[in-house]
Amino acid sequence: MKPVILKPIIGIVSPCYNEEQVLEETEKQLRNLILDLVERELVSDKSFVVFIDDGSSDATWTIIEQKASESSIVKGLKLAGNVGHQNALLAGLLTYNPDADALISIDADLQDDVRIIETMIQKYKLGIDVVYGVRKERTTDTFFKKNSALLFYFLIKKMKSNMIPNHADYRLCSNRVIKALSDFNEVNLFLRGIIPLIGFKKEVIYYDRLERFAGKSKFPLRKMLSFAWNGITSFSNFPLKLVTALGFIIFIVCLIMSGYAFMAVFTGDTVPGWLSTVLPMYFLGGIQLFSIGIIGEYIGKIYAEVKQRPRYIVEERID
Ligand code: UDP
Ligand code: MG
Repeated sequence: MKPVILKPIIGIVSPCYNEEQVLEETEKQLRNLILDLVERELVSDKSFVVFIDDGSSDATWTIIEQKASESSIVKGLKLAGNVGHQNALLAGLLTYNPDADALISIDADLQDDVRIIETMIQKYKLGIDVVYGVRKERTTDTFFKKNSALLFYFLIKKMKSNMIPNHADYRLCSNRVIKALSDFNEVNLFLRGIIPLIGFKKEVIYYDRLERFAGKSKFPLRKMLSFAWNGITSFSNFPLKLVTALGFIIFIVCLIMSGYAFMAVFTGDTVPGWLSTVLPMYFLGGIQLFSIGIIGEYIGKIYAEVKQRPRYIVEERID
């Protein structure tokens, strides 16, 4: 049994990429939340909020610097360049894990309901190591985003991945979970897939997803699709199995067709056909290309992994 910590040190980790429009409000809300929890003696007074500047080109870092100088609760980590949400989050988690009993990751745009943070901490005190925040409904998302996400989680489920549906990196992880996470060295980082792999006791809390407080989404369609694709290919070899299955089906079809061709020869029913020659050629060519493409995707991933490049580079740290 893990000893229960009555007043744990909680760190809230929030990656920011060009978030000057929301940051002041987010900082205020999260700082007040920590202050309130400290005052009610629910968490340690060493608890903190840290903003990770993911290579922003606007005033994001200036705001973080200023807020960090005003309050001892607020910290800042500046990455040397833009490495994307997942890597920025990882940077925050790994850098600040030694300073906290548990870390909570949350987006900087206030789309996730901060009121469930208290419940997350309660669960943690009951001995839960991972508390997932899960969106109840996607009423504020566009029709496209809602349905593409549904399709994504349907595919993920079909592939027997243990990913939590409708969970988007809003979660509490205990110190030992993040320690385990630091042993995962993959470059194609997809935290939603890795955290369930780690194990430990988990629980889910549902909340309503809100509108972005201000600013624009940093995930245009292109980034979203590549993120989903990464999620699928990093955690499952289902696409490869699909190719095998496809190859098998085509083999059976060809068998039946050759049987028919044989019979046609015996019955003298043969017509020198152009279609029957050219069509399978195109068909098989397409299938082969498709298969090679999928294999290539995986080789591309192997390529990225074997390089073992650092996933983020810290430029500056304010505590
Ligand atoms: N973000 C980041 N690096 C990036 C893109 C996004 O750190 O390259 C952060 C962003 O500042 C926000 C979070 O990731 O805090 C989620 O981004 P966003 O709200 O734009 O995504 P959406 O909610 O639209 O999927
Ligand atoms: Mg958002």
